[in-house]
Amino acid sequence: MRVSLRVRLAIGLALTVLSFGVVLLVGLAVSYLPVFAAIDDIVEEVTEEITPLHELQRMLLLAAMPVNDYQILPDPAERAEFARLGAAVERAFAAANVPAIDDPTESEMLASARRSWREARELGELLLAGPPAPDESAPAADMRRFDALITDAVGLLDQAQVAARRELDADVARIRGLKESAFRWLLGAIGLGLVAAFLVAVALAGSILEPVGALREGARRFAADDFRHRVRWRGHDEFADLARTFNRMADEIAQDREVLEGLALRDPLTGLLNRRGFEARLAEEVGRCRRYGRPLSLAMLDLDHFKKVNDTYGHPVGDEVLAAVAARLTAGMRGNDIAARYGGEEFIVLLPETTAEAALTVAERLRRRLAETPVATAAGRALPVTVSIGVAAFPGVGEGAEALIAAADRALYAAKEAGRNRVVRAGPAERGGET
Ligand code: GH3
Ligand code: MG
Ligand code: MG
Repeated sequence: MRVSLRVRLAIGLALTVLSFGVVLLVGLAVSYLPVFAAIDDIVEEVTEEITPLHELQRMLLLAAMPVNDYQILPDPAERAEFARLGAAVERAFAAANVPAIDDPTESEMLASARRSWREARELGELLLAGPPAPDESAPAADMRRFDALITDAVGLLDQAQVAARRELDADVARIRGLKESAFRWLLGAIGLGLVAAFLVAVALAGSILEPVGALREGARRFAADDFRHRVRWRGHDEFADLARTFNRMADEIAQDREVLEGLALRDPLTGLLNRRGFEARLAEEVGRCRRYGRPLSLAMLDLDHFKKVNDTYGHPVGDEVLAAVAARLTAGMRGNDIAARYGGEEFIVLLPETTAEAALTVAERLRRRLAETPVATAAGRALPVTVSIGVAAFPGVGEGAEALIAAADRALYAAKEAGRNRVVRAGPAERGGET
């Protein structure tokens, strides 16, 4: 079943948007989400690893200061300062030693730095307990060792940072890769959206162009007077409605046309074909006769002294007589014969498959019957009616419908001349049938 155009357009649009959206969402899931995760990792790395390591280095260098200052100016307050800073360094170590550190080198460096610090702290406390150490003394050697240990620890923390940075670099490289794949997914989404839009457009165009084509063909055929043609339609969409309306219109036009043609080709008084209607049939029969070499005859009848009927009884009675003669004419005809009212009180009978001789017999019988039985009018009169008949036939009177009519007309004239109420056959010498 075919759904309405409106629904089809909506489905097409939805399909396009959906395919675009699905690819975009999948792309987001497989590449953008990991990008966000990698960024999270980097932020974590920086905040939980690199920053505490930095802070630790700063604290270590700060803690070394009271011990060094004490050597210059042995202020007992430096002991308390060292204790305070030492505690801060411990806290900084605890803060730096987070579970986030997954690199073995990094945690190893951190542990070594801590060992150096612990040793430096013991040494620092010893140095702060005694007097300042002059150069070249044992405490001076301890002091150098203290400084060396602090420098060691700071150096180890540098290495730990290098390890942490390696992780950072790896994350950044991962983000770069993901960025490229995200870009590819975006391109894919756009490409697929375009392909979907194209396919939908093609499908829609097809489903619209086909019925439009059928309608156009219908319009063309109707314009060319082919009212038997019907527009094909499927489903229940707007085009099907249009096609059905179109076909109904064609039905009505064809019917009206038939009625009009009937009116145009028939004589209303007698119901016979009129001259126009007859000429069309005559042309057909003449063509057939010529193609197959079959005989064809024609009888032309004219009522005798009909003017007198009108003059005596009035025009309406004349009409009655005309209708009665027409009725007798058709009653005496065979199925293939074609009768028509050719003019005012002139009739014509076309006799296919009939030779001149047979036509003469038919005409003569018709003339006799009309002459024998007067026409009974509505007013109760019995009016005697006679006809003169000219008969012409193929072959023998030349070629074409006009020749046949002209020959019959000549024969009719001859019948009138010869005294009326008789049948005359057309020919080189018109021979009359006697009354
Ligand atoms: P002829 O024997 O020579 O044919 O004499 P006619 O009087 O029949 O010939 P004419 O041509 O002089 O007259 C024909 C008449 O037919 C004249 C006209 O009034 C009459 N007529 C023609 N058509 C009609 C018609 O439809 N109804 C009636 N009532 N009369 C008609
Ligand atoms: Mg006449
Ligand atoms: Mg007449």
